[in-house]
Amino acid sequence: MEDPKRSKATKTEKSAAAPAKQSAAQGNKKMPLRRCVGCGESKPKKELIRVVRTPEADIILDPTGKKSGRGAYVCRDKACLRKAMKSKRLERSLETEIPADVCESLERELETADENTEK
Ligand SMILES: [Zn+2]
Repeated sequence: MEDPKRSKATKTEKSAAAPAKQSAAQGNKKMPLRRCVGCGESKPKKELIRVVRTPEADIILDPTGKKSGRGAYVCRDKACLRKAMKSKRLERSLETEIPADVCESLERELETADENTEK
């Protein structure tokens, strides 16, 4: 006898409230992404280092990201910098040729820039 005749209260339970709008914060983070010309990954700007071609046509690292000139980003990683130079992507981004000795000094700069940047 398992038939408790309950008055089946018709559940007119109005499923209240449309689902709260999912916070429109999606993809709204203030984290500017830049693409590394070495590995091609997009990363937060602060994880990359800017290489800039100054108005004087010098190619230098710009740890502050504030120097004027045409810039490109690479990871703070010598391997990426090297890759970026070797693949010519850095040259293309900066629209200039980068002589080997400049490449070398960039690598060296990257090392020292890294030492100066406490995370
Ligand atoms: Zn990279």
